[in-house]
Amino acid sequence: MSLAARAGGSGKYSAYSLVKHGLLRQRWSPAWRRHDLRDSYDVVIVGGGVHGLAAAYYLAAKHGITNVAVLEKGYIGGGGSGRNTAILRSNYLTPDGVRFYERSMELYRGLAADLNFNVMFSRRGHLTLAHSDASLRTMRWRSEVNKLEGVDSDVIGPGEVKRLVPYLDVSDEARYPVLGALYHPPGGIIRHDAVVWGYARGADARGVHIHPGTEVTGIEVKHGKVQAVRTGRGRIATPVVLNCTAGWSTLICDMAGVRTPIQTFPLQAAVTEPVRPFLHAVVVSGSLHVYVSQTDRGELVLGASVDPFPSYSMRGSLDFIEGLAGHVLELMPSLAELRVLRQWAGLCDMTPDFSPIMGLTPVDGFLVDVGWGTYGFKAGPVSGEAMAACIAANKPPPIIAAFDLARFAEGRQLGEKGAASVGH
Ligand SMILES: Cc1cc2nc3c(=O)[nH]c(=O)nc-3n(C[C@H](O)[C@H](O)[C@H](O)COP(=O)(O)OP(=O)(O)OC[C@H]3O[C@@H](n4cnc5c(N)ncnc54)[C@H](O)[C@@H]3O)c2cc1C
Repeated sequence: MSLAARAGGSGKYSAYSLVKHGLLRQRWSPAWRRHDLRDSYDVVIVGGGVHGLAAAYYLAAKHGITNVAVLEKGYIGGGGSGRNTAILRSNYLTPDGVRFYERSMELYRGLAADLNFNVMFSRRGHLTLAHSDASLRTMRWRSEVNKLEGVDSDVIGPGEVKRLVPYLDVSDEARYPVLGALYHPPGGIIRHDAVVWGYARGADARGVHIHPGTEVTGIEVKHGKVQAVRTGRGRIATPVVLNCTAGWSTLICDMAGVRTPIQTFPLQAAVTEPVRPFLHAVVVSGSLHVYVSQTDRGELVLGASVDPFPSYSMRGSLDFIEGLAGHVLELMPSLAELRVLRQWAGLCDMTPDFSPIMGLTPVDGFLVDVGWGTYGFKAGPVSGEAMAACIAANKPPPIIAAFDLARFAEGRQLGEKGAASVGH
């Protein structure tokens, strides 16, 4: 059956369908449909963010498993997936991390064609600034690991940094002089909402039921095996539950009786008024705890590291915006007159080794795709692909083998901190 036929009326997006809809004054049908809640599904995915929706999409598209429900307590993309700053890159520190994120970049590069949805991927080049000999050393290490894994990444000097980002202060007078940078040309930004909506539309077209406004309140486990989930709209019998709830993931794990070493921290970001395009690359400073990119509309997107205390609060704070503005001006003093339009916060599920927790758990039928911290949006496609394969085979594929839950009990932590903190 063609995608158009399966899409339940939304059809294939193309120049032809745009003209046809315009000429015939046809309304576009919803990108995904509403369904009654079935009393059983083969797979229940908790969390309607990029991870849950990508897993649903690949389950249907690659494995033909379509009796699947995605349960979302709020609206689709209302968690971190709709609040992040959408930086994509694969220049991580550990070989496991680099291989994993590079597969995601590969999927992202083909995603618009795969989903028939413009996800607005923009390759910009990603610069992580070094302000000390110690960070230069870590960047050399990272770039060597990256090259061994076939990822384009190199350490460059201040002159080259200035050529790529002319407005950056690379002088000796800067409070934290720029000694060099890790330059990752394939890095970039994407439109986060489009990714979420594209996956939702693709999953819906293949028969997945997407249920916004459906909160999971309990998970029934009997003799070590998942039996059902309880929701605000009723009970659903199922043999497989996949937890994709990021900042809320420990609450869902608790329902199944599975413990994870995750703590939830708020992460804030801000956006300025739009200005003429002047900043092509994504600029990150781990030492100053800030990063800056410019959207296609001209706004500067500014971010930092997580708030210093665990919390489920999603409120912005004055403290954050003051610190952020100060550090951004240390990098680019000429932005002093720019006004901040708004700031917001999301929740991040931090693990001790800055790597995710993916795959099977001691409870049969309860799987996790969690521990995404401040860097999980870029991992959406590869995680969806890997978790779909894991569910289909009841066995984790090699690409996520290192991210198993047992590593914390067995002392096999991954040590991704040097690449994951602030770099997003
Ligand atoms: C400000 C900010 C900037 C970031 N920047 C970047 C970046 O530049 N690059 C990057 O790669 N990552 C970034 N991240 C991290 C990224 O946003 C997350 O790691 C990623 O979006 C996690 O996706 P997810 O699908 O796992 O979870 P989410 O998108 O958070 O989705 C989880 C969903 O689960 C739902 N849920 C929770 N409990 C229940 C329940 N009981 N029943 C039903 N549904 C429930 C929630 O409502 C939510 O919609 C950033 C995060 C923030 C907050």
